[in-house]
Amino acid sequence: ATPTALLVGTGRGAQLGTLIKGPQVLEDTRRVDTIVLDKTGTVTTGDLRLRSIAVRGRLSKKAALTAAAAVEQGSEHPIARAIVAGAAEAGIDLPRISDFSTNPGEGATARIKGTEVTVGKAALFETVDEGLRSHAASNAGTTVFVGWDGVAEAALTVEDTVRPTSKDAIARLAGLGLTVYLLTGDGESNARSVAEQVGIDPARVRADVLPADKHQVVAELQREGKVVAMVGDGVNDAPALAQADLGLAMGSGTDVAMDSADIVLVRSDLDAVGDAIDLSRQTLRVIK
Ligand code: ADP
Ligand code: MG
Repeated sequence: ATPTALLVGTGRGAQLGTLIKGPQVLEDTRRVDTIVLDKTGTVTTGDLRLRSIAVRGRLSKKAALTAAAAVEQGSEHPIARAIVAGAAEAGIDLPRISDFSTNPGEGATARIKGTEVTVGKAALFETVDEGLRSHAASNAGTTVFVGWDGVAEAALTVEDTVRPTSKDAIARLAGLGLTVYLLTGDGESNARSVAEQVGIDPARVRADVLPADKHQVVAELQREGKVVAMVGDGVNDAPALAQADLGLAMGSGTDVAMDSADIVLVRSDLDAVGDAIDLSRQTLRVIK
């Protein structure tokens, strides 16, 4: 392969809105047989909206939303942003918080007037009653809980939208001979519902994966002999992008993700992944 021809390929990629970081990437792209897609922000828009609130006992929905949004002021997570936006839309003034901390991939905690409030997955609470759990089970989207002293008192459901282009883009990837996996820190039921909407085999859904463990899912597929591409956008995804044989970051994503990737997709839809793979294969054919 002549370096000149490869540079033509990368230049054409840039025209299509694809930044390919160096000629070696084209060769790696040709070898890929498996592709792992991050769910939130990649297959979906990542633009989450607060959809519903359920409470137990005498707690009002407004009080539940106030407490949750107050804690989430400290977090950059898309779920946190949706909850804070929901409170703003309801005209709620948020109380001050102190001692904010996050458990990446699980939730966040802070003190409001000295009392500790937690927002996040059921696993963060000692008790989550059946009523709140059933709210989670009967609603589409991601449900997080808010509670005091280890007891969940309310459930908030946020919903994401599958990108309109994802289903066809995923069918195209399968047509290019790639096996497609869906990877997420979100729960199993929501992950499966998204997989079903876009035509990913439920057996290839990896849900409830902690941010620190995402790269291990990639490594495991590599140990099985697969040559793996990973597509992601979040801070969470950076180690998995680096671990993959080929890392692709959405251009709308975080700087860390773009730094860790081999290819940056300027256009924020999955069809750009098919374009990048097609382009690399064509470029190599021209050279050989
Ligand atoms: P993804 O793989 O979709 O990017 P994350 O690993 O960031 O997901 O988060 C996984 C799950 O952890 C979320 O679906 C949510 O249940 C919980 N979670 C993480 N951060 C927060 C937060 N700040 N507030 C509430 N829940 C959170
Ligand atoms: Mg993500």
